[in-house]
Amino acid sequence: MQISLSDWREVDGQEQTVTESELWDSVTFQGQTIGFKGPVQLSFHLTSSGSSLLVRGEIVAEMELTCSRCTAPFVQPVRYKVSEIIPLNPDDDPDGYWTSLFLDQETDELDLSEFSLMVLLENFPLQPLCRRDCRGLCTVCGQDLNQGDCDCATDQIDPRWAKLGQLLEKGKK
Ligand SMILES: [Zn+2]
Ligand SMILES: [Zn+2]
Repeated sequence: MQISLSDWREVDGQEQTVTESELWDSVTFQGQTIGFKGPVQLSFHLTSSGSSLLVRGEIVAEMELTCSRCTAPFVQPVRYKVSEIIPLNPDDDPDGYWTSLFLDQETDELDLSEFSLMVLLENFPLQPLCRRDCRGLCTVCGQDLNQGDCDCATDQIDPRWAKLGQLLEKGKK
């Protein structure tokens, strides 16, 4: 989604709603491949103050991730609200954040797709889990413990109870 900034300069109070469904290629982030199932829905309401552009709206996507415990692929639906004030003149963007990351200076177009991708990645979990209580893989034989226990699992203590076991040991002494 490209927004031509020249349409928004010096037009105080101009408003517009822009929506788009986009198909995104998968990206690599922190060593993980992130895919997108179906289109990413972008809907923003733009308001100009003449010197800046207020962008409010939301990003809705289904991210295809890999579980950090059991390595199974899974789909994570996400919805993020966005509210940003974007300077319309490079002079008002002293650290060059918008200008360098999302603005094509030749065409004077702001790339809201690129910006939306950054929002998704900023909120990306460091260790994605297919479900909160994913049991992961057996460290001995590699079996996916969500599918059932393996033979080596029998004499292993659930880490959640190991602590309790230690406390009980201490109490005995
Ligand atoms: Zn998992
Ligand atoms: Zn095992």
